[in-house]
Amino acid sequence: SLDTCYRLKNRYRSTRVPDVCLGGATGYFPDPLSYSKYVLSCATQTDISTCTGFATLAKANLKNTKGLRVTGVGAVTCRHEFWQPNGVGDLQLGERYCNMDFIFASAYRHNPNLTGIVTYDVDCQYAPGHWDRVATLPEYLQPNPRPTFTYMIPKFHLPAHKEACHSTFSLNYLPGAARADGEGVERNWASVNALSSSTKEMTPGSRQDTLDHHFGHANWRKTVALGRFKFYNLSS
Ligand SMILES: [Zn+2]
Ligand SMILES: [Zn+2]
Repeated sequence: SLDTCYRLKNRYRSTRVPDVCLGGATGYFPDPLSYSKYVLSCATQTDISTCTGFATLAKANLKNTKGLRVTGVGAVTCRHEFWQPNGVGDLQLGERYCNMDFIFASAYRHNPNLTGIVTYDVDCQYAPGHWDRVATLPEYLQPNPRPTFTYMIPKFHLPAHKEACHSTFSLNYLPGAARADGEGVERNWASVNALSSSTKEMTPGSRQDTLDHHFGHANWRKTVALGRFKFYNLSS
C-alpha cells in the first residue's frame, strides 16, 4: 500500500553544525545518497496526476512550501500496516513518480520474492509504465526476475475516480483480495500526525532519528498486540 502525507514537513535549518543522522539507511528511510541523487536526476518530473483531478488536493497542501526542505513523506506499508524497512522517503515537491518508485523499490528489495497487490490511490496513473520507470532506478533496486503485481485502488478512494476505473481497479472483483480495503497506509498516518509540529522544526538528522524511532515503536506495538488482535478478529 502506497501513499503520501503532507503533514510531515521539515524546515531548512542552518547547516553550520553538522547534524549527523545515526540511523542512515538502517531504518525506515532509504539510502540517503542514492535517493537524493535519483530524485535530483528527475528534477523536471511533474506530480502524478489523477484521472479526475483530485491532485488539486495535493496542490492545496503545497501552498506554503517556502523555507521547507521537505514538503511531506511518501510511504509503503504491507497489508498488515507495518512500516517497511527503507519504505519511507521525503518529498521535495508534490507526489512525484521518482519519489514513490524509489521508496517502493527500496522496501521491495527486502522481500524480493513477493508477488501481490499494489494498492495506491492513484494506481490508474501509477501502474502504466511502472516497470519502464523502475528500469531507470539504480541497479540494486531493480528486482530480478521481475515480480508480477496487480495494481488496485483503495476502496475509499475508488468512487472519486472516473467510471472506467471503477471495475478495473476494484478489489471487490479481484480473486484472493478477500475483504481488504487497500487503505492500510492511511491508518499508519494517523499515528504519526502528532509528530508533525515537533519534527517540522528539527534538524534533518534528529528528525530522521525521531521518525525512525516512532516507526519502529509502532511496528513493535503491533507485533506484541497481534495475538490479541487476531483473537478479536476471529471471535467477533
Ligand atoms: Zn505484513
Ligand atoms: Zn482513475
